[in-house]
Amino acid sequence: MTRIVIVSNRVGPLTDTGRAGGLAVALVDVLRERGGLWFGWSGEVSEDGTYSPLRLYEDGNVSTATIDVAQADYDEFYAGYSNRALWPTLHYRLDLTDFDRRLEEGYRRVNERFASRLVPLLRPDDIVWVHDYHFFFLGETLRAAGVENPIGFFLHIPFPVPEVLTALPNHKDIVKAMLAYDLVGFQTSQHLSGFERYLLEEVDGERLEDGSIAAMDRRVVADAFPIGIDGEAFSTFHETTEGRENFTLMRSELETRKQIVGVDRIDYSKGLPERFEAFERLLELYPEHKGEVSLLQIAPPSRSEVRAYTQIQRLLEGLSGRINGRFSDLDWTPIHFITRSFPRRALAGIYRASAVGLVTPLRDGMNLVAKEYIAAQDPEDPGVLVLSRFAGAAEEMREALIVNPYSIDELAEALRRAIQMPLEERKERWTALNAKVMTNTASNWSRRFLDRLVEIHTPAEADG
Ligand code: ADP
Repeated sequence: MTRIVIVSNRVGPLTDTGRAGGLAVALVDVLRERGGLWFGWSGEVSEDGTYSPLRLYEDGNVSTATIDVAQADYDEFYAGYSNRALWPTLHYRLDLTDFDRRLEEGYRRVNERFASRLVPLLRPDDIVWVHDYHFFFLGETLRAAGVENPIGFFLHIPFPVPEVLTALPNHKDIVKAMLAYDLVGFQTSQHLSGFERYLLEEVDGERLEDGSIAAMDRRVVADAFPIGIDGEAFSTFHETTEGRENFTLMRSELETRKQIVGVDRIDYSKGLPERFEAFERLLELYPEHKGEVSLLQIAPPSRSEVRAYTQIQRLLEGLSGRINGRFSDLDWTPIHFITRSFPRRALAGIYRASAVGLVTPLRDGMNLVAKEYIAAQDPEDPGVLVLSRFAGAAEEMREALIVNPYSIDELAEALRRAIQMPLEERKERWTALNAKVMTNTASNWSRRFLDRLVEIHTPAEADG
């Protein structure tokens, strides 16, 4: 029987879907449907620097297999090359990159290590699906070890235009490694076109009749598969105790006031300082909103071992302190900046209580918060989504107020428009957006990808 084998940096959890992110839930769904194995990093760093035996966990027809990494691997592969070279480059932040050769070698070494630990676990009928920028080289290493199974790769973050990608010293190796997969999936047609342009213009590739592209002596099928969320869950979370408690708490506070909400990991790609400044500009330009509108930004720290992340957190603390000092009144604080995470059910209540969802990344693969905000709204009184044109989500979610996140003035005006939007227009926009969120679910997304992968790998003679 065909199994699905998923490889990703973070694994699980298989249970407790209230805690798991939307992606984890979707992947567990496919694994349960078809039976399978989830392989990746345990989240642990082995203290003695040796490689641990596999940690195995089984739950019905689904199992997980994880390994620890050594401290040097963590530093070079994860905190190093993944998050100091690949993440900033793919998010168009060449000013923040660190292209140390040692980090690049560590990245390769860990990719090879993961591949060699995976090989003995694979069965001939398995379908392998590798996730994200941590594992560009995994497929190539599996192929070199003789694995002939279908292997797909999905990139959750942006793929930039070739003019930016080529700043990466080993861009050719990375792209060549992507060609070892049978199918490469991107979040949007823009990211797909960055990849295709690279192949056609940078390395003289050729588009074949069947739509695949041949380049560097390999052949690949690439397409856009925009990811979705579990919309059903987010539309009903407000009925749970946690959802209701948070909604009621906020709404009683908000009887005569309106709240703008932002929910992000602290990351320089999320456009957070620009967001705070835009809110300040709104209060400067339209003082009538003082005391009436507040901004709630929920942003737990992430990757704090990378300097750019601690710097942006300090910047945000400074900005919110300054703006609050300038505009606060005895009974009103303009910016509520909370740096911890909330359970998903609580988030849904907070989204639902907020008149505006502010999602303004400078670059983002998709951005799931935009979709969660829409799914959590009250159909009779929905809020307004203000969405960056540089979020992958903007390709689908045209009915949001689409903004340029670099323009503080444009952002401030969009906030003003969102706050004042009449009920009828809010309903119209929300209805269109919600239909998309509810149709393109995370489960549909994974099915589309896997079906395509199987179809590509089916031998041609089967067609007769
Ligand atoms: P990224 O993957 O870059 O962090 P996304 O918007 O695509 O950005 O996904 C973020 C996910 O993390 C969403 O599902 C969101 O609900 C969740 N999340 C973000 N911030 C918090 C928080 N403070 N508490 C709980 N969940 C959060």
